[in-house]
Amino acid sequence: MSILIKNGYCLGEQEGIYDIFIEKNKIKKIDTNIKEQADDIIDAKECLVIPTFCNAHTHSAMSLFRGLADDLSLMDWLNNHIFPSEAKYVNKKMVYICSKLSMLEMIRSATGCFMDMYFFEEEVAKAALEIGMKGVIGEGIIDFKTPDCANVDEAISKTFSLKREFESDTIKVAFSPHSTYTLTEDSLKKIAEASEGFIVHTHVNETKSEVELCMEKHKKRPMEVLRDAGLLERDIYLAHCVASTDDDINMMKQYKTNVINVPQSNLKLASGIAPIYKIMKNGIDVFIGTDGPASNNNLDILEELRVSSLVQKAINYDETAVDAKTTFQIGTNSVFETSGKLKEGFDADIAVVKLDGFEATPIFNPYSYLAYAANSRDVSTVIINGKIILKNGEFLSIDEEKVKFDVKAMAKKLGAMF
Ligand SMILES: [Zn+2]
Repeated sequence: MSILIKNGYCLGEQEGIYDIFIEKNKIKKIDTNIKEQADDIIDAKECLVIPTFCNAHTHSAMSLFRGLADDLSLMDWLNNHIFPSEAKYVNKKMVYICSKLSMLEMIRSATGCFMDMYFFEEEVAKAALEIGMKGVIGEGIIDFKTPDCANVDEAISKTFSLKREFESDTIKVAFSPHSTYTLTEDSLKKIAEASEGFIVHTHVNETKSEVELCMEKHKKRPMEVLRDAGLLERDIYLAHCVASTDDDINMMKQYKTNVINVPQSNLKLASGIAPIYKIMKNGIDVFIGTDGPASNNNLDILEELRVSSLVQKAINYDETAVDAKTTFQIGTNSVFETSGKLKEGFDADIAVVKLDGFEATPIFNPYSYLAYAANSRDVSTVIINGKIILKNGEFLSIDEEKVKFDVKAMAKKLGAMF
């Protein structure tokens, strides 16, 4: 299978109008006037051609709970609304159908890969394989019984079996300890020992009250708990990082951790704003995440990127903070090493963005347009791992109406109006 993208304005190592030739799942050639014959030709004239974005923190099956409970603090939202609904409604079928909906929503805004933490993650992997999206799946590990694991040991062995069954070019498996306030130090140590060679994905410093809970439980701050358990030595991705002190940031720097900025969920749950500009100035790698659809409440990564930049300017009283090009780089930072760049030899994870919208008229700087003006309606074509998933705004081999119908039918039982 080969694809030729013609005459698009490419953003990447080589910037300007180029053709891109894709063979199998790789970018084979980027040049002007490529003559190779291709099975599929995409005319990208008057369009931007960009690497797909990476949504590095989500709980995709939570689309069932979108708008179920809003205008609440994190702990009230979790303890009184989300956890009870999860106990009742989360099962294999729910995870499969509802995460599919989220994947389509993510692809619609040019997201090619996502990192997920939830339950029945094998269903997330199956849905991702069916749709053709790249995913890092992680079974959420907590100290109490989950919908599919009786305890921490079971969740650890499940993570190993997920790796055996699904790890491939497009699926990675992560260890996903939920947080320091839902796990004992012993459990965190067990996870640290088990997770050598894995990505680790966790929530940290999401709110001030989370830090207080952690201090009560462990007599230490969350970052110290992670360090003492040995988890900071792993390839760890820390989602949120809102209530981070300078000492926490120093630890992130010392251990070369990755930070995932999740601004809209933090704003909506009134958790605060992560000191991302400061974190970046310390040389720490930052990724973007939407969080689950129940706390955001959409998965439009372009919207997320816009907010991620604007709030940093505002809290730092610095209009240069997280500028347009930096925002684009954060969005394309990928958990998959060979994704996120338009570069020969890289995976063919590419989006075509059409420039015929009101918000795309005129364009002086494509990064400014993407960071501050674009939205998912502007995304026309998405190629993931060399396969066209969305073409001219239509999903090629997925019945999106059926996916929406299935989720709506399920949500009716929870009292959804529409
Ligand atoms: Zn989360």
